[in-house]
Amino acid sequence: CGIVGYIGKYDTCKILLDGLKELEYRGYDSAGIAVLNEKNIDVFKAVGKLVNLEEKVNESKSGEYNLGIGHTRWATHGKPTEVNAHPHLGEYSYVVHNGIIENYKELKDELLALGHKFVSQTDTEVIVHLFEHYNNKLKDATKSFKETIKRLEGAYAILLITKDEPEKIFFYKLGSPMIVGKGIEKDEVLFASSDSALIGLASDVVYLDDRVGGVASKENIEFFSQNIVWSKLPTSKQSAQK
Ligand code: GLU
Repeated sequence: CGIVGYIGKYDTCKILLDGLKELEYRGYDSAGIAVLNEKNIDVFKAVGKLVNLEEKVNESKSGEYNLGIGHTRWATHGKPTEVNAHPHLGEYSYVVHNGIIENYKELKDELLALGHKFVSQTDTEVIVHLFEHYNNKLKDATKSFKETIKRLEGAYAILLITKDEPEKIFFYKLGSPMIVGKGIEKDEVLFASSDSALIGLASDVVYLDDRVGGVASKENIEFFSQNIVWSKLPTSKQSAQK
């Protein structure tokens, strides 16, 4: 189970897939990415090895993308099928999640009663519907993301993207690891579950503490809390091994 995210001008699909390969050692049964450009969000999912996902991406990607999120899944709720693979979709937003939402049943019942449609058996899918429930009311993605987090019990590392704020990645960590990095070049932001996936790509990183989240665009990473500690990352695997 691993998470990656990227904002920047390089090949988003390749960076996400390479990042997921670096996280393969954590184990997984399926994988997926959601990538966004001016026109739309494309999503690719596959059961089994990452090469299956890579083939799908290379067959049907529609040009360049400005940002994206990726996930390798180790199923806890729902069988390892393509439908249950992340990213999970609401109406206009996507989420990837590592961990477990302990109170997903009551949240799902609440959202079903409000008319939200679910397609997977995962605990994760409630996150994106809860976000859209708030966002439809509040018309403010950052506020809605914060409201969503308040309702989630359990352990989670989350990345969320939405067509409403197509320049941004929303992130939060509680219990499962998440690292955010600034690219070696300007105007790049990266996310991963382990710093091994960021070596050679990010110069400065924050190992997020529990209950730390924020919102990133290519110009800026805004944290919802104080006392954020940045560390330098080795710029290559060779220098990391010294
Ligand atoms: N609980 C989620 C699921 O079963 C996430 C599992 C994971 O951490 O990969 O889909």
